[in-house]
Amino acid sequence: MSERISVGVIGATGMVGQNYIRLLNDNPWFDVTHVAASPRSAGKRYREAVTGRWHMVTDTPSKIGDLVVEDAANVAAARGKCSVIFSAVDMEKEAVRKLEMEYASKGFAVVSNNSAHRHTEDVPMLIPEINYEHCDIIPAQQKHYGWSKGLIVVKPNCSIQSYMIPIHALLKKGYRPARLIVTTLQGLSGAGYPGPSSLDIVDNIIPYIGGEEEKSEKEPGKVLGKVAGGKIVPDESISISAHCTRVPVIDGHSACISIQFAGAKPSLDELKETWKSYRSVPQELGLPSAPRQPIIVRDEIDRPQPRKDRYAEHGMAIVTGRLRPCKVFDYRFVSLSHNTVRGAAGGAILMAELLKAKGFIG
Ligand code: NAP
Repeated sequence: MSERISVGVIGATGMVGQNYIRLLNDNPWFDVTHVAASPRSAGKRYREAVTGRWHMVTDTPSKIGDLVVEDAANVAAARGKCSVIFSAVDMEKEAVRKLEMEYASKGFAVVSNNSAHRHTEDVPMLIPEINYEHCDIIPAQQKHYGWSKGLIVVKPNCSIQSYMIPIHALLKKGYRPARLIVTTLQGLSGAGYPGPSSLDIVDNIIPYIGGEEEKSEKEPGKVLGKVAGGKIVPDESISISAHCTRVPVIDGHSACISIQFAGAKPSLDELKETWKSYRSVPQELGLPSAPRQPIIVRDEIDRPQPRKDRYAEHGMAIVTGRLRPCKVFDYRFVSLSHNTVRGAAGGAILMAELLKAKGFIG
């Protein structure tokens, strides 16, 4: 694990991109050697390109701040500088699909936050604790497109992170969640920079986020699916009804969840213990960005709260609380994840660490 890998970030100036820069600056396996964004930022030093819109609590890292931002469409500009591309560009879906294919065809391992390839049959959509074995499809993907080294893996939507890991912990114990009603309360940074105007969101809640409910209901099936015959076959056994709202919180997506099991259900104590003791492959492999405790259970009546809990385990833990019986389904609880860390840059870096540990990159 000693060899460091040079990586590039496209969309490096945005909300997700800035989190990549902040997190990768301290990563023991990866070095940022290439940054790219839109033609508006191209040609500027990174520090200059984010002046006035740097939203991290730490300063712009000095070495990365000196890099000159390239146009993300200029794939040739990344050649020879890095072998992995973290993709966080905000562009039309079809344009992203083509651009990511172009990087992969030129030999880059593309690790994407964008939704363009989430339902491409042979592209794994990873939450490393849950479906680490979906990486096994990569050789079939490379064969399909004729790539010798290039590959694409994607992250699922930020809104599903807070409930998928708790659900997986239950599945691992042999329980079968059958139905979920989820109401999300999603932070502003999830809308990218600058997000909704202050006059729209201060003193307000917006009960609609375009496309988010469909993603929240559909993506879990692929994450829980199985690799068979060169594609990922979704598991549709859990019915999800999602209502997604935008709330005036800067970072952190909360979700209020009611859950019903098919067959036996755990007791409340067993459920809590299942979550507290949950560990998976990223923890066993000691991946640098893996939270030591992926699910934190808060017993206080008024937690989790975004401001107090979003940075648990450096923003990589899921924080749950308010677990209690439900009058309609079996149980209900509240769950929180940091949308631009676990839900975006941090989760994608963890995916890249998994790829390195499994020998797909480096
Ligand atoms: P953002 O803050 O709006 O940043 C967008 C980035 O894309 C900027 O770097 C921008 O560069 C670049 N860009 C825009 N148009 C471009 C073009 N034509 N060519 C090349 N680069 C272009 O958005 P974000 O929130 O970081 O989201 C980025 C992606 O991650 C989106 O696909 C989003 O859906 C996804 N995502 C976001 C979150 C979240 O919580 N925010 C979570 C998961 C996934 P300039 O600065 O030069 O304009």
